[in-house]
Amino acid sequence: MELFKTFTFEAAHWLPHVPAGHKCARVHGHTYVVEIYTRGKVDPHTGWIHDLADIKVAFEPLLNQLDHYQLNDIEGLENPTVENIARWIGDRLKPALPHLWKIKMWETRSSGCVYTLPEE
Ligand SMILES: [Zn+2]
Repeated sequence: MELFKTFTFEAAHWLPHVPAGHKCARVHGHTYVVEIYTRGKVDPHTGWIHDLADIKVAFEPLLNQLDHYQLNDIEGLENPTVENIARWIGDRLKPALPHLWKIKMWETRSSGCVYTLPEE
């Protein structure tokens, strides 16, 4: 069974390693949508895997670092592609959210990526 919770944040970025003249080399902004998935066994007594609020509590400190910032200025996000942002979030979220399974990120309404965490 999987659980998920969805968040959004606004941020500016530019991509330093794209070919000359690429539009993503210019500073621009996105409304990012982040879907955070956990997975595990449903406890027969509680009827849940874990409290859905656990996802919000775990993600909030990261959200506060991302929302309304220029992502390139954040340590580890010097090249803030959607892939690198998803991995940055996933790797930092895992210690606080042991059931974390994958991060699905939307950079626009039609494009994004899915980062599935490595098996332990
Ligand atoms: Zn962009």
